[in-house]
Amino acid sequence: MPLHTKAPKGNLSIVGLGPGRREYMTARALKAIAAADYVIGNASYLDPLEPLLTGKNVIRSSMGKEIERAKQAIDLARSSAVAIVSGGDAGVYGMASIVLEVLEHAGIDIDIEVIPGITAANAAASRIGSPLSGDFAVISLSDLLTPLEIIEQRLDAVFSTGIPVVLYNPKSQGRPHNFALAMEHARKYLDGGTPIAIVRNALRDSEEVIVTTLGEVETVEDAVDMHTTVIVGGKESRIWRMSENVRGIITPRGYHYKYVY
Ligand code: SAH
Repeated sequence: MPLHTKAPKGNLSIVGLGPGRREYMTARALKAIAAADYVIGNASYLDPLEPLLTGKNVIRSSMGKEIERAKQAIDLARSSAVAIVSGGDAGVYGMASIVLEVLEHAGIDIDIEVIPGITAANAAASRIGSPLSGDFAVISLSDLLTPLEIIEQRLDAVFSTGIPVVLYNPKSQGRPHNFALAMEHARKYLDGGTPIAIVRNALRDSEEVIVTTLGEVETVEDAVDMHTTVIVGGKESRIWRMSENVRGIITPRGYHYKYVY
């Protein structure tokens, strides 16, 4: 078959949008969206992108339909430029893995690019100083795809090491008790003075930040919801008083063991 009659080859970008505001998106993500014929994603992620979507085919999908969305994206990407978008980083509790799995299963040859975005752990950490300066762990408290008993085993494993732990999906209407349960696991290994940050809508207009301790976290539990990332400090983390009203968390990297400053 002569080359010019061959169907045009499409491509698929799996794009991390960062926490929300445009200025926190990468230039590469903006470029992929600009080049796309189709932009697919959850309505809550697409609405803020509206000015970038003029003239494009926009497919708004709803939560819980990730497999259909992945299949549709792959199908369109056989002959068009497609951007499938996820909040934060698409590879962190996002769409990247399901798209790649469906593609692997379908055995189709299309050009793929995964474009990284600022994930909630980094966005939340940046608002309170430097809580994740060395080793840290990330756990999602959502038991939709992972059984609760496995989440509990992982919580024990990470809290027992004394490194900071970032909790994604800490609470939702469907699982209102997982956050309190996670705090019970934390208390087995960490003392009451351990700093905790509750960061809601990090780097978005409605951002809220609370810095508290493991001993007092129950009193602010209502501030935790599905738009929140919780950072539980480690054995070396401490509350950082920037000013009388502004508190953050520092986890020293260990310079103080070697240098005087
Ligand atoms: N792919 C996303 C995570 C999706 S899971 C990322 O990389 O950030 C959804 C969870 O992410 C939420 O329940 C919340 O815990 C966290 N999250 C996402 N954006 C956030 C933000 N701007 N502020 C605080 N938490 C956020």
